[in-house]
Amino acid sequence: MKSFAPNFRLAACGCVLAALAMLASPARAEVAIGVFAYQGERAAMSDWAPMVAALNRELPGHGFHLDSYDADGLKAALAAGRVDLVITNPGYYVTLETSFGLSRIATLQSRNAAHDGAALGSVVLARADRTDLSTLADLAGRRVAAVAPEAFGGYLIAARELLQAGVDPESALGELRFLGLPMTRILDAVRDGEVDAGIVRACLPEQLAREGALRLDDFRILSPRQVDGFDCALSSALYPDWPIAVTRRLDPALAKAVARVLLAMPENAEHVSWSVPRDYQPVFDLYRELRLGPYAYLREITPEGLARRFWPWLLGLLAVLVAGVAHTVRVEHLVHRRTRELKDSLVAREAAEHRARDQQEKMEHLSRLSILGELSGSLAHEINQPLASIATYANSLLRREAAGTLTPEALREACGEIAGEAERASGVVQRIRHFARKRAAVREPVDLVSLAGEARRLVAGMLVQCPEIAIAAPVSPCVALSDGLQIQQVLVNLIKNAIDAARGLPEARQGIRLGFARAGNRVVVEVADRGAGLAADQREHLFEAFFTTKPDGLGLGLPICKSIIEAHGGRLWAEVNADGIGMRFLFQLPCHEPSDESAA
Ligand code: ADP
Repeated sequence: MKSFAPNFRLAACGCVLAALAMLASPARAEVAIGVFAYQGERAAMSDWAPMVAALNRELPGHGFHLDSYDADGLKAALAAGRVDLVITNPGYYVTLETSFGLSRIATLQSRNAAHDGAALGSVVLARADRTDLSTLADLAGRRVAAVAPEAFGGYLIAARELLQAGVDPESALGELRFLGLPMTRILDAVRDGEVDAGIVRACLPEQLAREGALRLDDFRILSPRQVDGFDCALSSALYPDWPIAVTRRLDPALAKAVARVLLAMPENAEHVSWSVPRDYQPVFDLYRELRLGPYAYLREITPEGLARRFWPWLLGLLAVLVAGVAHTVRVEHLVHRRTRELKDSLVAREAAEHRARDQQEKMEHLSRLSILGELSGSLAHEINQPLASIATYANSLLRREAAGTLTPEALREACGEIAGEAERASGVVQRIRHFARKRAAVREPVDLVSLAGEARRLVAGMLVQCPEIAIAAPVSPCVALSDGLQIQQVLVNLIKNAIDAARGLPEARQGIRLGFARAGNRVVVEVADRGAGLAADQREHLFEAFFTTKPDGLGLGLPICKSIIEAHGGRLWAEVNADGIGMRFLFQLPCHEPSDESAA
């Protein structure tokens, strides 16, 4: 097919003709036809001149003239509103249609076109001896030459075919070289082995062969195709030919008149005429698939496109994420460290508590032994007394038996006394052993009144002269959840101190009184004496460790009693008696209600 596009020289002639026409008829409205023109192809302005002449002839009220542009120039002219009609290749047309709202009114129709009117395609050629190349897929990694990135037949149509063959022309070729116009440069590069294959507009090789500029046998066609009615070598699908479109500037009535004139024009010398507008959807599809022109935005929504467009935001987001992760890791680390520290300190605390408990138990035990030690001065006497009685009764029995005066009654009576005395001695020993035993603390319901009786027996059992210890039984006896032995230890300690306080005083000041009272759900136990008492400044130090007024005292009894009572959830304190004579020591403990037991 011969070129149908204008060249600039003739465009200038057209302008001069139009200007002359304007002078002849000053009232004519000018109609500018913007033509996309490029050297070497569709370059003959004379091919457009008959069309302009026909329009001026058929529509005498208007002065039609041609303005030729390159791609950018046409775009600028459209933007500036200097164009009424546009003639361009299908590729530029689809990009301009979406930007400037163009409407096709006719499409070029070549006699060489396929049956559906499509006439534009690409042919991909290699040198005839390159038997290793037969399909477009073979071009992966190869050097390929084409016209220009935006050339429709000279690149884009073949680019789509390559993409469909699995070879992305932008990334999968070894090299993609754009050699520009004229297209013969590409064929030369293929023939000279500078590239492995070349892309040119379909029918160009045949045209050059007809002109004697090329031997078709020197080349082989990659992925050749047959399309009915189209008799040029082809490696691609066919697309509709050039359209002519109107801009929004043009009056619709004039657009209709122009269409009528164009459709009525006969074929020109190259057997090309104007036909009804063709379907340009395949061209749109091509641009969408290649993500170019009106579909260039599709590149932006690929991961790389988005990254390119939003990299500052992505960088910010990444920074925030990294900061977030770093913060989380740091917090995790701190939490981990703190947890470990807490665990360590808990373990250390538990060990310390265990040690303290152990020490406390040892102290309590020592304290009990110490009380026993103090009381045991008279212990020998307590044990000796029943032993002496036992010996007396036994000797008396022996004597009577020897004298033959032993009656069964006397024998029974003496044996009864011996058994009684032995029991008394064993009771003393047992109480001491029970009091002195070493054991871990327990909590059990304890009857405090009977515990007080037991403490009194223990003290009385060990003293030669024990003062009277009265126990005032409470109205409603209280059972405390406690360690009986420890509470007994407290009672013995307080009783012993009370006895010590009255030592050497007249008989009337010797008595000790143990009292019980209920205060809510607590029981208050009191050990009162009529002893020497203690000066106010000394009373302040009563419960301090090692405070003692006794020459052989340790000053540990009261602090230990205090710690025992507090460990039971109670309180120990001391007061001067109401009449100012002697002192009383009081402690309170929580009562163990039966409901507590059932709850437990
Ligand atoms: P110790 O009996 O070894 O001295 P305690 O801690 O049992 O140790 O007693 C400390 C001091 O408290 C006694 O030395 C004494 O001065 C005083 N004390 C204790 N009980 C009484 C009491 N009932 N009357 C007067 N003083 C007392």
